[in-house]
Amino acid sequence: MIHRERVADDVYTFQSDVYAQVNAGAVIGEDWAVVIDTLAFPDETLAVREFIERELKRKVRYVINTHYHADHSWGNCFFPGAYILSHALCRDQLAKFGEKSLAAAAEVDSVFQKTQIILPHLTLEEGTLELIIGEKTLRFIELPGHSPDGIGVYIVEDEVLFAGDVWMPIPHIVDGDPEVMRESLKKIGSLTIENVVQGHGDVILRGEVISSIKDRIDYLDLIQKIVLEAAEDDYPGEYLKEKDIEACGRSRILLGGAAEEIHQQNLRHLYRSVHGEDPKRFVS
Ligand SMILES: [Zn+2]
Repeated sequence: MIHRERVADDVYTFQSDVYAQVNAGAVIGEDWAVVIDTLAFPDETLAVREFIERELKRKVRYVINTHYHADHSWGNCFFPGAYILSHALCRDQLAKFGEKSLAAAAEVDSVFQKTQIILPHLTLEEGTLELIIGEKTLRFIELPGHSPDGIGVYIVEDEVLFAGDVWMPIPHIVDGDPEVMRESLKKIGSLTIENVVQGHGDVILRGEVISSIKDRIDYLDLIQKIVLEAAEDDYPGEYLKEKDIEACGRSRILLGGAAEEIHQQNLRHLYRSVHGEDPKRFVS
């Protein structure tokens, strides 16, 4: 149900098989552990905890939320006694919208009835913060663009970055801003990196970092161009639909098959934000 990978000594990733290849991580110290993000469904998050507590025999002392989205933060409640860390804006968003979104989700899927929103106890407002676990330094880096509250966790000694959703196989901008995302991707490009754990999708290796950043920035350029072209068309909505993910040179099997949906959300969102209205599918 979850796919586990060791990316450095005492550093693990856990990837969901059922929800858009979302990733969580863990850094294991001598006596206690840090979890980076929780997964989409309670059972998956509980499997992460079970691995750390039963197999590795460590207690989870901190949980870091890279941002407030449900598939990264709703599992906080499954680590009772742990301190939750996030950007201050993540806490604000969870406090404002968490309960309402959770109630709506629990109505559709009863597995969420055992979920509770747990707000972060420690927040970062600006700059950086470091959490030391044994020999490892976990440096928090602000990485907005997918959402305003995005942070990455850079393990200094291992040169491993947990990037959160600012880095995905297909960028997702409906809660963010393409310009801000570009800046965050460039900021990542300035780090020395052995591995990047994306918010969703497979681990990026050192040799792929530069080309992978370029690929994401090229995608942002491309969708901005498509949205401008669409406005010139008699049927902008149809035009956007035709420019599907494959027409943009990317595979629809990415993100466990969610690539096309995410791409269409991006196009419609960007069209609305540039042109101030929904793309019309037919001329009335
Ligand atoms: Zn997200």
